[in-house]
Amino acid sequence: MLMDDVKEVLISQEKITERCRELGEEISRDYEGSVPVIIGLLKGSVPFMAELMKNITIDCETEYMAVSSYSGTESMGDVKIVKDLDRSIVSRDVLVVEDIVDTGKTLEKVKELLYSKGAHTVKVVALLDKPSRRITDISAEYVGFTIPDEFVIGFGLDFNQKYRNLPFVGVLKEEIYED
Ligand code: 5GP
Repeated sequence: MLMDDVKEVLISQEKITERCRELGEEISRDYEGSVPVIIGLLKGSVPFMAELMKNITIDCETEYMAVSSYSGTESMGDVKIVKDLDRSIVSRDVLVVEDIVDTGKTLEKVKELLYSKGAHTVKVVALLDKPSRRITDISAEYVGFTIPDEFVIGFGLDFNQKYRNLPFVGVLKEEIYED
């Protein structure tokens, strides 16, 4: 059973749902009068994007991009565009949806890329923020939860591509990493 690998539930499904409602309201207020392009970063943002989108009450467009940054539990440092956007974002207000901001390298690169594609503004909404690990000046304008420096899984976040389907954010048992 998947649950047997989980040491601790850090953020419950109920808390995530509630927080997505609040973030959706805030974003809808802030982007009133604009039609933002909301860009989900695959694959980690999928459950968060789905939950958040339901709570955005203004006109918006949704797009997806994929960048690679992590292998196992350690950052590889280099960020590669694996799936680029297939529509123009020239002069658009862009909101990037990310699962977690850790070192900030992924978002630094993604923001740079989106501005180079002609975006008018680029802001970030992240489900989780680990500020203690930051090595860039990047910060998300909207944050679901600030968490300590722990490797988390669930609600989109993986360990070696597994555990994304857990409906909460949790911490894995140590023996899973050691296998
Ligand atoms: P950054 O470029 O900010 O260092 O890393 C961002 C990416 O690293 C996230 O999109 C996520 O895929 C991965 N990442 C960072 N911290 C964690 C974590 O605690 N758990 C998991 N599963 N992935 C993480």
